Amino acid sequence: MKKEFQAESKRLLEMMINSIYSQREVFLRELISNASDAMDKIYYRALTDESLTFEKDSYFVKVIPNKEARTLTIVDTGIGMTKEELEANLGVIAKSGSLAFKKENEIKDGHDIIGQFGVGFYAAFMVADVVTVTSKALDSHEAYRWQSEGADGYTIEPAEKESVGTEVVLTIKENTEDENYDEYLEEYRIQSIIKKYSDFIRYPIKMDVTTSKPKADNEEELEEVTEEQIINSMVPIWRKNKAELTDEDYEKFYNEKHYGFDKPLKHLHISVDGTIRYNSILYIPESIPFDYYSKEFEKGLELYSSGVLIMNKCADLLPDHFSFVKGLVDSEDLSLNISREMLQQDRQLKFIAKNLGKKIKSALLGMLKDEREKYVKFFEAFGRQLKYGVYADFGANKEQLQDLLMFHSSTEKELVTFDEYISRMKEDQKYIYYATGESKERIEKLPQTELVSDKGFEILYFTDDIDEFAIKMLMNYKEKEFKNVSSGDLGIDSEEDDKETQDKEEANKELFEAMKEILADKVSAVKVSKRLRTHPVCLSSEGEVTIEMEKILSAMPD
Ligand code: ADP
Ligand code: MG
Repeated sequence: MKKEFQAESKRLLEMMINSIYSQREVFLRELISNASDAMDKIYYRALTDESLTFEKDSYFVKVIPNKEARTLTIVDTGIGMTKEELEANLGVIAKSGSLAFKKENEIKDGHDIIGQFGVGFYAAFMVADVVTVTSKALDSHEAYRWQSEGADGYTIEPAEKESVGTEVVLTIKENTEDENYDEYLEEYRIQSIIKKYSDFIRYPIKMDVTTSKPKADNEEELEEVTEEQIINSMVPIWRKNKAELTDEDYEKFYNEKHYGFDKPLKHLHISVDGTIRYNSILYIPESIPFDYYSKEFEKGLELYSSGVLIMNKCADLLPDHFSFVKGLVDSEDLSLNISREMLQQDRQLKFIAKNLGKKIKSALLGMLKDEREKYVKFFEAFGRQLKYGVYADFGANKEQLQDLLMFHSSTEKELVTFDEYISRMKEDQKYIYYATGESKERIEKLPQTELVSDKGFEILYFTDDIDEFAIKMLMNYKEKEFKNVSSGDLGIDSEEDDKETQDKEEANKELFEAMKEILADKVSAVKVSKRLRTHPVCLSSEGEVTIEMEKILSAMPD
């Protein structure tokens, strides 16, 4: 007898099949997650039931494509379902047997169980016309078969099945003009979907894979060999013990994940067991991705929930100024929405992001302190992004970023930090001086630098467009203000000097007036300067916007 889905269920199913998931391929993720949950349930039973032993080897998922029959079968050796459970869990949409199981058994650390919404199973109808579930529950002698063609309803009848567990058979849809369904029967495609979403499911996901291999008796000839393979890696690197992992392991993972073709400069392995638990592996790349400073570049970390991939690039996990960081976060404490493709609330994400930000900063500071060469390499690649971060957030990230900045300097060969500059400041030096220009060489020729250099004060060289803008946001470093060497008041002159300047100004009044007339609207005033030593003349500006900034601003498109 065909039972009908409840009216609400019918509507929900229709909506679901057509709209919840942005990608069809996630149906496999959902079915494999269910299989994993079913096996976890036996594991949790065994913890309290002495008559049950849990032998890890007997628990696995097997995926079997059959092109001739147009079926894709997912077999598991999990806890199975009774007739009643088939009806309750698969007949009522949005009823999660897994969530109920967690509650009933008061499993506090049961965060490995993935299911909670009671809709994942129906994702199967995105690719299948008919779904057949044959299941035999633990402690049960009978097996039952549930079958449905989608919104119409379902049937349940007794079936034959020897071992405990569940077998889900999808009758894959025929291709249409616009949609290809054949791909879900292709070994290679299935393998890649498993790798993508379910690589870190803790049970082996097996599949018979056919490959061409040299013949045993004749190496010249190839033959097709079909072997059962385990497709997933099972234990994710981030759940392994740090002490057992080598730099090579992390580098290998970086490459496997296609985070980049370079060798990362540094990796961070973070495990947090607080109110929000998460594991994370982060990398500081060595070289700039080709599209890094373009609009196409998308920042973000991979986001997993209990080992299942939720999002490829979760942008909220990284502030813009650390957008170069690659890696992933796995947390079982995220509240996901039903498609798992979005997060229900971002409080947890914000919390994780904030922590990661701190960890990244201290990793960079550590690198600056202990591995200077590496840090310089890093800064040459991504320093601009840090400076941009200072500017873009109106100095809100001052604390996080100011110690990470580096600049060329008039007295040092290498890049220097503000801290190093301050440590070399002279007793009578009030300001952190800087000069702007296209290059170190150009700045060195600037007449404006003479007076400051003569006093024995170090000058930071700002060669990047963003530098001076960023510094204006910082305003000061450790209470020392920044001062452009071209600015009017350099904080160097004594009163005597001032008097002398005034006298000179008076004495040459007519000359200056004549010069101003000739230069007309090219300059706003001609004045005596105290800062020149060997150069006869220099350009300077008044107010907050310096000549260099004006140049940049006027070059920008409106
Ligand atoms: P969720 O996994 O979020 O609970 P699903 O729609 O994926 O929701 O599955 C609904 C319920 O059906 C599960 O909670 C579980 O009780 C049951 N179920 C689904 N697949 C299996 C399976 N392979 N073995 C045992 N029970 C299953
Ligand atoms: Mg599920």
